[in-house]
Amino acid sequence: MNYKCPECGGQLRDTNLKGQFFPWKDFPQVVLLSDFFAPQCEHCREIIFKGSQLRSLDEALEASVRERMASNIAALKEKFSETQKDMARKIGVSKEYFSELVSQRKSASLVLFNLFKVLSVFPSAYHCLDSFSGEFADGYIGPKSLRDRFKYVSDAQLSKLPVSSPLKRFGFRK
Ligand SMILES: [Zn+2]
Repeated sequence: MNYKCPECGGQLRDTNLKGQFFPWKDFPQVVLLSDFFAPQCEHCREIIFKGSQLRSLDEALEASVRERMASNIAALKEKFSETQKDMARKIGVSKEYFSELVSQRKSASLVLFNLFKVLSVFPSAYHCLDSFSGEFADGYIGPKSLRDRFKYVSDAQLSKLPVSSPLKRFGFRK
């Protein structure tokens, strides 16, 4: 193949996009965790997707979100020897939904994904979540109170969070 980049006329080369960041739904950036080849310009780095590739990329990004969420849950579960049921209660979601996240059958909301991303770096903050249990007792499913406070955290921001009380940084009471 000998296509030229429509942006700058540079040489396009089939490139593995694994490890690169892409927006997906309301996630501003998702790390692509699987191999995915598409023509990328050697000069300006523009990626030229064909229509069908965009749909495949969308699926690959969704799989990446599910995989990362499941591995973050698994790491935390092992660290604190928690049951799935107890974790679901503490997070404030139904155990059925939580089980679907664990088995990668559903994608987490951005808020929940973010929460686990922070917890993967600061596992001790998991114990602060107990203070939320009461808020979800009335049958509400989903961390409603987290939604406004837990905006998207980029990996760069995450590395800059203070080690003490990372949840406080996001306006949590405890
Ligand atoms: Zn180019």
